[in-house]
Amino acid sequence: MSENLSAFAYLLASICFIMSLRGLSSPVSARRGNLFGIIGMVIAIVTTLAAPGVLSYWVILLGMLIGAGIGTFIAMKIEMTSLPELVAAFHSLVGLSAVFVAAAAFYEPAAYGIGTAGHITLGSLVEMSIGTVIGAITFTGSIIAFGKLQGFLSGSPVTFTGQHALNALLALILLGLVYWFCSSESVTLFWVIVLLSCVMGVLIIIPIGGADMPVVISMLNSYSGWAACGIGFTLSNPALIITGALVGSSGAILSYVMCKGMNRSFFNVILGGFGAESGGPAAGGDADKTVRRGSADDAAFIMKNAGSVIIVPGYGMAVAQAQHALREMCDLLKAEGIKVTYAIHPVAGRMPGHMNVLLAEANVPYDDVLELEQVNRDFSSTDVAFVIGANDVTNPVAKTDPESPIYGMPILDVENAGTVLFVKRSLSPGYAGVDNVLFYRDNTMMLFDDAKKMCEDIVNALQAM
Ligand code: NDP
Repeated sequence: MSENLSAFAYLLASICFIMSLRGLSSPVSARRGNLFGIIGMVIAIVTTLAAPGVLSYWVILLGMLIGAGIGTFIAMKIEMTSLPELVAAFHSLVGLSAVFVAAAAFYEPAAYGIGTAGHITLGSLVEMSIGTVIGAITFTGSIIAFGKLQGFLSGSPVTFTGQHALNALLALILLGLVYWFCSSESVTLFWVIVLLSCVMGVLIIIPIGGADMPVVISMLNSYSGWAACGIGFTLSNPALIITGALVGSSGAILSYVMCKGMNRSFFNVILGGFGAESGGPAAGGDADKTVRRGSADDAAFIMKNAGSVIIVPGYGMAVAQAQHALREMCDLLKAEGIKVTYAIHPVAGRMPGHMNVLLAEANVPYDDVLELEQVNRDFSSTDVAFVIGANDVTNPVAKTDPESPIYGMPILDVENAGTVLFVKRSLSPGYAGVDNVLFYRDNTMMLFDDAKKMCEDIVNALQAM
């Protein structure tokens, strides 16, 4: 393929990626966005393979088959609720591949057209170093994030005196080493930079607590994009440069949006030590306090006699896969002339947009699904808030207890509704490990059961009335 033609094809692929991002910005156009992404990726792969200099198609094909096989297997097997862990694991691979590509270019510069061993062009050395540093940080940082989300590492922030000073010192040393590497092209220095960046990745993520993990995931997403972008320069591949920059900047924007959603300062999250796993009373509820328990029949009766109901879905709905039964319940309520809307918190569930995806899967009309800012005032004029598998995102301690790990996070003000129905299996706390004071309020009724089972029972009760 001629150079002009491949540049044109890469441009086409990049336009597809931009269209893809645009499509993914709304559930209505998300499928179209995905399709654009697939088309862009096919164009990019075919163009890369058609470039001169490919030594063995068989090796590439074998690699693609193994990678696609593993990817398909994992995608089929993965639970929706484990996606953040999967995303973290995949980010670590993006980081690692950036390091490998940089190493390959460093050892065989002639093959990449960036000079000869010992005489690599300065620009390429700088690009290579940036890709390596960000790639290695992304690699180990993502592994730590994966461990925290998976639960084999503690979700609590790991902090020690002088941590920020140590990180700053390490960053300065890395900068110095990169400068030295660019002037010496020393093999040892290259690997010292890789090693130090790996240590830095660990140090950056360990002080970040469980409650701030959503931001970390999107931040690592951004890092992996910038690593790919840096390597795109080394490979002189415009598609990789543009795609990397798109991923890098969209990840950074998402991190910012999520910080806003949790009312965190971006720098506080990056510098760590926030979002401790536990800050409230003992997990599992306070034995001295009493709660009002209800049954599916009680819930059906209360909602059937209500004028308006706001549904607040959370992580538990995803675990129980209750969205279809929930939709059926809401359809019955609507048929009774009851106004039903859904309130979505920006960090409900375990990944951005988690609840929107599940509700869309159950064909809930998009117009019924409202964001926090759109719906929060409505709770005070609503008869029933039906909280299904959500916890942290409704917890008022986020407004009242400065010691709480979720302090400052805007919450859905379900407490203002006439009656609050909580569907969950026990009094256990949510992701942030904080007891929810709403469970013990007079206007709250606890519906202890699996979310799907409870919705099905309420549907039966409504039909029997
Ligand atoms: P929470 O984690 O606060 O609470 C979920 C609740 O669901 C639990 O209290 C649990 O109680 C209940 N539950 C679990 N399984 C079931 C089931 N089968 N049936 C019924 N209930 C069930 O969820 P929220 O959505 O309210 O909040 C999200 C939290 O996750 C926030 O702290 C957020 O910061 C964090 N987070 C968000 C990410 C994102 O990108 N959205 C990513 C990572 C973390 P019980 O065990 O008693 O049933």
